[in-house]
Amino acid sequence: MKDLETLVRPNIWRLKPYSSARDEFKGEASVFLDANENPYNAPYNRYPDPLQWQLKEKIAVLKGVNINSIFLGVGSDEPIDLLYRAFCEPAIDNALAIDPTYGMYKVCADINNVEYRTVRLNDNFDFDPDNLLSKADSNSKLLFLCSPNNPSGNSFAAEKIEYILKNFQGIVIVDEAYIDFSATPTLLKKLDQYPNLVVLQTFSKAWGSAGIRLGMAFASKEIIQIFNKIKYPYNINRLTQEHALKLLDRSDEIRAWVKELVAERENLRQELSKLPIIQHIYPSDANFLLTKTCNAQALYDYLVGRGIIVRNRNKITLCENCLRITVGTPDENRILVDALKEIKL
Ligand SMILES: *Cc1c(COP(=O)(O)O)cnc(C)c1O
Repeated sequence: MKDLETLVRPNIWRLKPYSSARDEFKGEASVFLDANENPYNAPYNRYPDPLQWQLKEKIAVLKGVNINSIFLGVGSDEPIDLLYRAFCEPAIDNALAIDPTYGMYKVCADINNVEYRTVRLNDNFDFDPDNLLSKADSNSKLLFLCSPNNPSGNSFAAEKIEYILKNFQGIVIVDEAYIDFSATPTLLKKLDQYPNLVVLQTFSKAWGSAGIRLGMAFASKEIIQIFNKIKYPYNINRLTQEHALKLLDRSDEIRAWVKELVAERENLRQELSKLPIIQHIYPSDANFLLTKTCNAQALYDYLVGRGIIVRNRNKITLCENCLRITVGTPDENRILVDALKEIKL
């Protein structure tokens, strides 16, 4: 990896961040007259903790990482955008990724006017690391890997990801949004070994909290400091912090959900594989099944008519006639399978 100062945009490296009232005074007091808050409507009259220390303390313990290696964002979307804004000079620098993968990497590249270079996956949704690295040049700052990958559901071999980490000169982002549903280990344990590693996780999937918009980025404390410098000062609101604090005390319950969803994923696979309209179900380490069908659009329309919504991925690279089906409750999955049994095409 190049040194961080070379990778970060010069204006960001030099930036003096906004200093809020809560940055300048932290701690207990009886009268707060420093932030132009309204004294009524407690506790929501007060600005939230800009760096979410209480929440990070719990996450640090749960994940076994240093508290200074954690950034919390408004979903994973926020750290994805901050990565571009911190590292990529518009119209000059570029980012690398696989295709197909999660759509936000490209949307954020486009918003920030950053070139986005992709390597097409093979028919097993896998890639050759040297081929991916061959797309890099001296302006390649970011490389995105999503594992387990969306929309395919497969994980990439740890050796392959580590080969990229060792040989790419910029920042490697491993998006582990679905890692809780996978038997493959997280890369969080490798943070100390690879200063160019950023791991993304989220409260939106296993934690059942897409509605509170809370994402996690894990990286070296130097990279986290750069994120903290450029984020909106109070990015994580008080309601979200409160909900997440309570949720983190229920981690046994969350583990039980995940266990059930993984078991249901395999039930659903079995049931779907009996249907003649289903041609192939790809291996999945996530909470969804990418499914090749005889006619994705017709099946999609039929299911909508029955009040059942799946994701039509027909137009995505390598996903011709594919539906992406999220694993629901046993009841929801049965309703889906029963509807598919009754279809006449
Ligand atoms: C769902 C998903 C996320 C989660 O995004 P949030 O902004 O945290 O809700 C991140 N990455 C991938 C690949 C996803 O599929």
